[in-house]
Amino acid sequence: MILDNRYAGLEWAGTRTEPDPLKAPRLLLVNYDLAGELGISLDDRQWRDITSGERLLPDMTPFAQVYAGHQFGGFSPRLGDGRALLLGEVVTPGGERWDLHLKGAGKTPYSRFGDGRAVLRSSLREYLASEALHHLAIPTTRALCLVGSDEPVYREQVEAGAALLRAAPSHLRFGHFEYFYYSSQSERIPELLDYLIDTQWPDLKQQPQDYGALFDRVVTRTAGLIAQWQAVGFCHGVMNTDNMSMLGLTLDYGPYGFLDAYDPGHICNHSDPAGRYAYDQQPAVGLWNLQRLAQALSGHIELDVLQQSLGKYEHKLLTTYSELMRQKLGLEQWHEGDPALFRDMFSLMSEHNVDYTCWFRRLALLEAEGELPPSLAALLPEPAAWQDWFARYRARLAQEERTFAERRTAMDAVNPKYVLRNHLAQNAIERAERGDMAEADILLQLLARPFDEQPGFDAYAEPAPEWAASLCISCSS
Ligand code: AMP
Ligand code: MG
Repeated sequence: MILDNRYAGLEWAGTRTEPDPLKAPRLLLVNYDLAGELGISLDDRQWRDITSGERLLPDMTPFAQVYAGHQFGGFSPRLGDGRALLLGEVVTPGGERWDLHLKGAGKTPYSRFGDGRAVLRSSLREYLASEALHHLAIPTTRALCLVGSDEPVYREQVEAGAALLRAAPSHLRFGHFEYFYYSSQSERIPELLDYLIDTQWPDLKQQPQDYGALFDRVVTRTAGLIAQWQAVGFCHGVMNTDNMSMLGLTLDYGPYGFLDAYDPGHICNHSDPAGRYAYDQQPAVGLWNLQRLAQALSGHIELDVLQQSLGKYEHKLLTTYSELMRQKLGLEQWHEGDPALFRDMFSLMSEHNVDYTCWFRRLALLEAEGELPPSLAALLPEPAAWQDWFARYRARLAQEERTFAERRTAMDAVNPKYVLRNHLAQNAIERAERGDMAEADILLQLLARPFDEQPGFDAYAEPAPEWAASLCISCSS
């Protein structure tokens, strides 16, 4: 493994901090496929020892990054890696650079009142969700290794301590730039932007002094990411600017959730009673967050350039989202009445609490005429209420050139059968807490091929059971 730790060389950008090892660590999961892609080859003992914080490889220089952030609208001037460490930057066989980031590694100068730890529950939730999003082709940080331990960690109750080794091309957040802006160290901002360009976007070097192209890329990627979240029914839960990735990755999984029954105002985070980060707020929050980033960069990019890029956000998000929705409904063409068809579908889904994921997947089974397929009808408490909508949809499909069989194949390739519903994650967590990783392994297999039929596992592709509604997913992690 080749490590080149440039970030740790930016001494002003954080603090060298040694990990505080977890007691009695147990290796729970290793993502050997990803490790292979990154050119990392370790034995299981090394995986366990590195992820538990017991051991560092010779070239690792553990470093806690400093950043700030707007949290639920209010500005926190100094956050930073309070329980995570950048261990190093791997240069992959393909010449890419990836951060190795260890979460739950103990206290750092940025821990504030926290204990520097992560619990098994939230670490496994992050592992599962980041892999699920990756296989749904949604940009995200990745999970490399999970260890558990007997170390007690105090949250609402005592839980088992754990640590997650994650990887991403960069963990730079909007909040990094806010930190330097609001602490009157604006001169550091170009240095950090140059780091991002050098390590991730060398093509932007051709436009020296022009950080405008960089900001434009962040806007485009953020808009594209959020369009994908909306289309798949993913709620992030804590879209604070310190959880917003400069690369447009899904970052920092906390109280996230996939929609079960379609509810546009769904709030996945029980610590967000006002619904600031509700499902239907995510697009607007993305823009608000980009405006905060624009402010932080305003000393280095012309105002009209920033505004021009911000002005592209809505268009990019809406065109991406509409395109994804068109594909989800199995349409190849655009017709004038389509927006109304989509709108009416969503209002019926919301009125009748139709399961979001199952709806699109099972809609693919609809034939040109005849009864509704039984699995689709099973989602609709009052099928009669849908009669008119199905007639319109069938009429619309008749205008397409594809056959119904071709349409079904195309829909199955974009509408996942398996998503990480909270109750599925919860079952895997409860078993992992008893030392049994079998359920987590099953989920990882299903979620690695979310669009494929996987015989024998249909129970994992059903709407959530009643008890799932009482699951309380809070910020505490
Ligand atoms: P999060 O809500 O996980 O995105 O974290 C927000 C901030 O709090 C970040 O600076 C984290 O590093 C820090 N933080 C969260 N949990 C802990 C913890 N248990 N110990 C120390 N810092 C933490
Ligand atoms: Mg965070």
